[in-house]
Amino acid sequence: MSDSWGAPEENPVANPAAPSHAAGPSTTAAQRPEGPVADWGQPVAFDYTETDVDRQWGSNGAIYEWDGEEGDVAPVNPELELQLFGSPDKRHCAGVDFSKIAEISVSQEGEHRIVPIFKFKDAGLHPIMLKNVEMAGYQTPTPIQKYCIPAIKMGYDLIAIAQTGSGKTAAYLIPILNELMGKAKKLVARRPVSEVPRSNLANFRAEPLVLIVCPARELAIQIFDEARRFCYRTLLRPCVVYGGGPIQEQLQQIGRGCDVLVATPGRLIDIMQRSHLFTLRRLRYMVIDEADEMLDADWHEEFEQILVGGEQEQGNVKYMLFSATFPGAVRAVAREYLAMNHIRVRVGRIGSTHANISQDVIFVKQELKREALIDLMYSLDPARTIIFVNSKRTADEIDDYLFHKGMPCTSMHSDRTQREREDAMRAFRSGRTPILVATGITSRGIDVRNVRYVVNYDLPNADHGGIQEYVHRIGRTGRIGYTGSATSFYTERDEPLAEDLTKILMETRQPVPDFLQQYIPEGVDPKEFKMEDDTSDIEDQAGDAGDAWQTNGPQDGQNAGANSWASGGDAGDGWGAPNAGGTAEDGWGSGGNSNNVDQDDNW
Ligand code: ADP
Ligand code: MG
Repeated sequence: MSDSWGAPEENPVANPAAPSHAAGPSTTAAQRPEGPVADWGQPVAFDYTETDVDRQWGSNGAIYEWDGEEGDVAPVNPELELQLFGSPDKRHCAGVDFSKIAEISVSQEGEHRIVPIFKFKDAGLHPIMLKNVEMAGYQTPTPIQKYCIPAIKMGYDLIAIAQTGSGKTAAYLIPILNELMGKAKKLVARRPVSEVPRSNLANFRAEPLVLIVCPARELAIQIFDEARRFCYRTLLRPCVVYGGGPIQEQLQQIGRGCDVLVATPGRLIDIMQRSHLFTLRRLRYMVIDEADEMLDADWHEEFEQILVGGEQEQGNVKYMLFSATFPGAVRAVAREYLAMNHIRVRVGRIGSTHANISQDVIFVKQELKREALIDLMYSLDPARTIIFVNSKRTADEIDDYLFHKGMPCTSMHSDRTQREREDAMRAFRSGRTPILVATGITSRGIDVRNVRYVVNYDLPNADHGGIQEYVHRIGRTGRIGYTGSATSFYTERDEPLAEDLTKILMETRQPVPDFLQQYIPEGVDPKEFKMEDDTSDIEDQAGDAGDAWQTNGPQDGQNAGANSWASGGDAGDGWGAPNAGGTAEDGWGSGGNSNNVDQDDNW
């Protein structure tokens, strides 16, 4: 049986993962592969003294600098252009299955309906922004972009939920930066002219117009990189601050002008306390990326501080929350922070995975995991692969193990210095070490082109991240129209996750292995299974609102493009429309009406 490894029969079998190209399942132990199917390249021991000359730290990425003095049109900088966007013939485009993203149904809720845009050209973008979008290789907006671009333009607070790898970063960056571009001369803070000596920079305060907060350092750097592209040829100067990086250097960077700041919470709070160097009084937009994680109880204190502690003028700030997962309880917290008339847009079911990711779950005995891993690795075509584990120690051990098997790998976890983390990430991105062994710190948001395989050497713990983390982890592949495959090792210890995992597999029409069959709800045909949001009422669905199980056929093929969000008729009946007799406003954005306990799960 291709989906079991080490059980029930004791004999380890080859090609446990059964990715579609793998050899047949009936291989015996004697036939196990002795080496990879093709050359992965030489493993390179990590040299921590090596530096990327251009960019020792992620926060030092080159940015466009313009003082706005020489006329109204910012000059081109061909060298920087090449650095930011790559050479014109290699600019990346979406994968061939991009259309599958566009097929997913879009829902929105709220008093105000957003009419989506269909082309970047029709979005009323500033010519320079349009050019940047084009140079970034974006031809068609993704569904979440189709809705967020006009919603932000109209000045709404926003909650936006869409699958991993569906372009959420650009969905907020493009419209926000576009709104500010035309007014930048008026809005931006006074900044030092370039000749000001470093020592005098302390006389200038960083006063960002846009603040983007996200939970992980590497993610902050990545969002900053995207911001550098969209700020190209504008007056807006992007910066990033994150823990573990050199604070003095980061302070100097923001002291030179900081209109768009990407930050992780700890470092941000540290900097906010230096009010002579930093203030949020000019703030216009606050974006919380990976919002469900940021709103999690663990971050509660930091989050409160960020929301109120930076001298921001509340009435002037638009708040936006983005994520691919958003458990009901967390949404209930979120609603307290947004304006009454905020817009909610979601693409597909909250927390679902992408159809572009094929998923395999294999039963493996705990003590045979390593053999299973090496057999799996030997069966894969060499391509970027992320292997997730649950502990730092396992990350070190597996990195070591693979390295000694001649596989070019690197690893990353929270005990590494920030420098080591960034080096590892760079080695992985550049393809020098196409295998990355990582703990959950890399599970959210990280976007590396061409990650073809994700391996859950350990499945996420049900009490720690659980199925949400599974969704984020496997979402490192199958991004923006590319396909990918995810293989998970399931052991007896993973039983608490079994039910959720089975549902996710059924929802995306993946094979349910024998050992998970028992978790298929009685009377449900896995091929027909449709998962409901953890909401009490979803527009367009006639079924019993309270019923968590619904076996209607999939809504595949429903055209997201046009007006599918409107299909249910009255917006007020859509998400958040309560079963408790209130109005939609009573659900979200009500400022925390504690009577609405029933509505915590409304969306
Ligand atoms: P998410 O936050 O939804 O997981 P990202 O914002 O990280 O997704 O985007 C995933 C990838 O898709 C990035 O490499 C980004 O540059 C690219 N991308 C975003 N929008 C488009 C688009 N409209 N066309 C092509 N590629 C896009
Ligand atoms: Mg993202």
